[in-house]
This record gives sequence, C-alpha cells and structure tokens, in this order.
Amino acid sequence: MAKQEDQFKKVLSHAKEYGYVFQSSEIYDGLSAVYDYAQNGVELKKNIREYWWKAMVQMHENIVGIDASILMHPTTWKASGHVDAFNDPLIDNKDSKKRYRADVLIEDYCAKIEGKIDKEVKKAEKRFGDTFNKEEFVATNGRVLGYFEKINSILSRMGASLEKEDLADVKALIEELEISDPLTGSKNWTEVKQFNLMFGTKLGASAETAMDLYLRPETAQGIFVNFLNVQKTGRMKIPFGIAQTGKAFRNEIVARQFIFRMREFEQMEMQFFVKPGTQKEWYTAWKETRMKWHLSLGMGAENYRFHDHDKLAHYADAAADIEFKFPFGFKELEGIHSRTDFDLKAHEEFSGKKLQYFDHEENKSYTPYVVETSIGLDRMFLAVFSNALQEEELENGTTRTVLRLPSVLAPFKAAVLPLVKKDGLPEVAREILNDLKWDFNVFYDEKDAVGKRYRRQDANGTPFCITVDHQTLEDKTVTIRHRDTMEQSRVSISDLKTIIDQEVNAKTWLQKI
Ligand code: ATP
Repeated sequence: MAKQEDQFKKVLSHAKEYGYVFQSSEIYDGLSAVYDYAQNGVELKKNIREYWWKAMVQMHENIVGIDASILMHPTTWKASGHVDAFNDPLIDNKDSKKRYRADVLIEDYCAKIEGKIDKEVKKAEKRFGDTFNKEEFVATNGRVLGYFEKINSILSRMGASLEKEDLADVKALIEELEISDPLTGSKNWTEVKQFNLMFGTKLGASAETAMDLYLRPETAQGIFVNFLNVQKTGRMKIPFGIAQTGKAFRNEIVARQFIFRMREFEQMEMQFFVKPGTQKEWYTAWKETRMKWHLSLGMGAENYRFHDHDKLAHYADAAADIEFKFPFGFKELEGIHSRTDFDLKAHEEFSGKKLQYFDHEENKSYTPYVVETSIGLDRMFLAVFSNALQEEELENGTTRTVLRLPSVLAPFKAAVLPLVKKDGLPEVAREILNDLKWDFNVFYDEKDAVGKRYRRQDANGTPFCITVDHQTLEDKTVTIRHRDTMEQSRVSISDLKTIIDQEVNAKTWLQKI
C-alpha cells in the first residue's frame, strides 16, 4: 500500500514539475477537483484524443463525429433520467466531517479483501514454484474461495439495496462491515442520502425570465438528440455510430484522486445504433474492440480487466467497465453499455418528435438500440502517465527517471540538441528542427551538458534525441538516441523523418489491433 501511495505521489509531483498538470487557480489555493493541463499535458491529452478519434471515426466507415454544445435544452435531462436519477449515495462522518460515497466505501472494503487474495496467491506461488497453477489454485483453495464469496455477497447486497433505493440497508451494511473513515478511523456515520451530481446554471439576463439549465453531465445526450439529423444528412445505414469528445461536468461527492475524478472533465464517447435484438452481439464486439485499442498501446495486458456490472443503470440491459491498474488499484477507465432504446424513446416521448429509423431492407421503421463506449480522457491520461513513469537503475549505479509514454502519444517526438553552443552547430540543429517540425512536434535544447539534456528528455517522455556534433558538419549525419534503450546510432539527416515516423505514426500502433 505504502509503495502504491509513494508511486502516486511521484506521479503528482512529476506531472507538475514537468508541465503536465497544474491545480486550477493555484495562486488562490486551487479549486477542489479541478485541474489545468499545462504545456506538455495539453499535447499528451490532444494525442490521446486523436488516437481515439482515428481508431473510432477515421478507421470506421460507419462512424461519424459531431461536436454538440455543453448547454442543452433542460428537458433533455428530464428525458434522460438525470434530473431524477443521476444521484450518488453520500454519507458523512460525524466526527471528521468528511463526506464519502457510500458505495465507494463498500467497494474499497472489497478491494482490501481482493488484496488478501493476491497475498494468498503470492504465498502459494513461492511455495509451489514452477509447478504453481494460478487458475487451479484460485478455483480450489478454500480460503481464497471464502474471500470471493464474501466479496460477492457484499456487492450483490449493496447492488440490490441501491437498486431498491434502500439507503438504510446501505448504511446497515457499512456498520456491519465495521467500515471506518479512512482518514480518521471513526465509525460515527450519518444516514446515507442521495445527492444529484448535476451542476445548474441560468440562461437569460433577468432573474424572472432566466431559464434553469444544467452543464451536461455526459456527452452522450448531445448525440441522441442529433441522432436523426446525422442519420438523414449523412445517409447513415444501421448499424452506424456517432462519436464525440467534449467536456462534461459532475459535482462529485468525493474528488480526492487527482485527475481520476474531476468536477470538470472530458469524455470520448461513441453511440452505436443497431437493430433491436442484435444489441448483445454488438455489445460483445465493442467490448473486444475497445480492449484491443487499449492493448495496442502496449501498457501491459496484466494491467487491464473487465468488470461486468451486477447493478445496471436505469437505461442499460448490460454493462461492463474496462478497469485499469492505477497507482491506487484497479479502477474504471472506460464503460461499455448496452443502453437499449431507452434514450431515443425517452426523447421521442418528451419532445413529441419521431426519432425512428426506416430500415429499407426490412421495409419498416423502428427505434434503434444503442451500444455505447465511454471513456474519460483525463482518466486515460492518468493511466498512460502513471504507467509510463519509471525509475530505472542503470549499470553505472545511478538511477534515471524515464517517462515511457507510448511514442505515438508523447508530447514531443524528438529533441534536437547541438553538442555545443558554438562552431555553427546550433545553426545546423535549427535547420533540422525547422524541417522536422512540419511533421512532428520537436523540441530544441542547447542548455547544459548533453547528458543532462538527455535525462530531461527521458523524464519528459521524448522518444528520440538527435545530437548534432562536429561530424555532422562534415558528413551530414547525426546521433539518434532512443529513450527506452538509450542506444545511440549514427544516421543520415535525410533519414530522420522516416526513422521517427515509423516509430510514432498512429498506423504503426493501431495496426497492432
Ligand atoms: P465512476 O463509477 O468512476 O463514477 P461512472 O460509471 O459514473 O464512473 P460513466 O458515467 O460511465 O462513469 O462515464 C464514462 C467514463 O467517464 C468513465 O469510465 C470515466 O472514465 C469518465 N468519468 C466519469 N466521471 C468522471 C470524473 N468525475 N472525472 C473524470 N472522468 C470521469
């Protein structure tokens, strides 16, 4: 646990020190759970967004994008169910005055039991050595099975109680499990209450005529209300998808995990409209496609897992999360939801407008079913960034900090470094930079010894360093150094573009899918 916390602290300080993420309004002591992306962070974030957009929109003939507004007609949120049901169960600790999400307290309790399972597995692994069969052990060991049973019974009771809105039972469960305030250890809890997460605002000049609006809590509804416009103008045939990326706002109860849970964040969502009855197949297919997208980035298959939901949202007939191993454990990174025809039907009812699709092959109209993939851009940023940050022991006994970002996502693809600040080397370096910058984001640095500059680029995640030295003046070659291996080779200036492109091009990465 302490190791995890240490790693998380390192992530926070590296993100600030290297210009990735700043606390919003820091000079006023910040605003809780609101963050700004800094000069490098904005590049990484943009590259993640583009990598998603390429895979989802550009690579699919039947998926198009839109960019809907943050402000929408308030009836949207009545129809979608957010006004009535976009609630989280909150509980306060009377002694510490800290507020928690009751379901998260219970889930964290279960995560601790999972930690015990991991310990049992590790112990057995040591004991049995090479002959150890993890799957068999987990399926047969009495103690491990007992832990699994306990987790299942807790989560299904919580799911059932939340479903029935039986908040008294959620509190009873917290008390029975003797869950205490993680910060103070106090078990003095208030009742559990529902709390609506939407931010309200007003449209209009005078108080009397102003209209109450909400900042959108998800981008999906902007897609649903545009469904027919896009289908008609794009002449889209089912199955087809509409994708968008954009800001969403939630007045989160607990927001203590950096950019994992923010009050203003960005989503990358795709709604896939299918023929009723085929939604299960598409749901399974999109689960697989999305997992492959994650794996294409090479961040380690062991760091992902699916979590199928027991408790379904009011609109869903199946739902799963792709969870990622963040520095604080496995948590939701992306949701894949089979949303049925709930949203389109609801908008039809509330707007009085028909939102149906005419299927020429079947010669009939119907309301399509929807499978949604929804990923938080900021969470993806945290996944990529925290996974990339490593400290490495070198052969000479020193350590280096290296940010092993997938090179397709790195803010800068290369740094051009004149070996010394004289003899015409900076001029040649700038020439190289000016040529490469048409294709890539490239950094120039001539300050400090070259070894120090290499380390700065390692810590900043730059995949290549290009060093211009005296030999460059003679034969138009440079040294190219790879961030991950630190290997250096001599290459011709005219080959640089191809070498970099092969490594950082989205095609190289996405073709792994
Ligand atoms: P959680 O259970 O963590 O609150 P959720 O199930 O409410 O998340 P969804 O409504 O399914 O999340 O939203 C889709 C995605 O949007 C999530 O998988 C997550 O990546 C991202 N997301 C949701 N809420 C936040 C937030 N407050 N800050 C950052 N990202 C978020």
